[in-house]
Amino acid sequence: GGRDGLGAYIAKPESYPSSVVVYHNEDFVAIHDMFPKSSLHLLLLPRDQTKTRLHPFEAFEDAEFLTKVKAEVQKLRKLAAGELRRKYGKDSAQEQARRAALNADPPPDELPPGRDWDQEIMCGVHAVPSMNHLHIHVIAVDRYSERLKHRKHYNSFSTPFFVPIDDFPLAADDKRRHPTSEGYLKQDFTCWRCGNNFGNRFVELKKHLEEEFKEWKTL
Ligand code: 5GP
Ligand code: ZN
Repeated sequence: GGRDGLGAYIAKPESYPSSVVVYHNEDFVAIHDMFPKSSLHLLLLPRDQTKTRLHPFEAFEDAEFLTKVKAEVQKLRKLAAGELRRKYGKDSAQEQARRAALNADPPPDELPPGRDWDQEIMCGVHAVPSMNHLHIHVIAVDRYSERLKHRKHYNSFSTPFFVPIDDFPLAADDKRRHPTSEGYLKQDFTCWRCGNNFGNRFVELKKHLEEEFKEWKTL
C-alpha cells in the first residue's frame, strides 16, 4: 500500500481480474488507475527491475528503454482509443458505417476513418510522481470523473506538470525538470477544451468539465 502500492501489480499481475489488470507481458503491466481522473484512466508499469524505482526523467535517459516504453505506450493508446470508440462512438453515422464495413464480406480495402480517438488520449508522466514505481498515465482528455476531487488533480494533468511521453528525451535545460511546489499545481484552472480561465474556482470548473464532457463524447 501507500507509495509502494503499484509494486504488487508488477510482481503478480496474474492474480488480478481483468477489471484491474488490462494485460501483462514479460516487460509491462497495464492497469486501471484505482482513482481515475478521467472517464478512462490507465497506467502502464514497466517491469524492468533496474528502472522501476527510478524517477521517470532518469529512467528515460536510457534511449533503448525509452524506445521500448514508447512502443508499448502506443500499443496501450490504441487499446484505450478502441475502448473510447466502443463507449462513445456507437451512435454516430460514421461509426455505424465503420462497423458495417468491418462486418462486410468480403471486407473493403479501405474503411471509413471514423473519429480519431487516438487524439483524445494523453500519455505521459507527472514531473513529481506520488507513487514510487515507474508508471505512465494513459488517460482520456476529458478529465471528467468524480475522483477528480482536488485542485492539484486537475492541474497535474492540465499544466506542464504533465509531461507527454513524446517529449522525451527532455533537453538538459528543460524547465519541467525543476518544478516548484508553488508552480504548476497552483496555477489558475484553464479548461482543457475551450481554454476558459476559471481562476481558482474549482466548483465552477467541475460544472464546466461536465458540460464539456457531454459535448466531447458525442462530437
Ligand atoms: P502519480 O501522481 O504518481 O503520477 O500517479 C499515481 C496514480 O496511481 C494516481 O493516478 C493514483 O490514482 C493511482 N493509484 C494510487 N494507488 C493505486 C493503487 O493502489 N492501485 C491503482 N490501480 N492505482 C493507484
Ligand atoms: Zn471549456
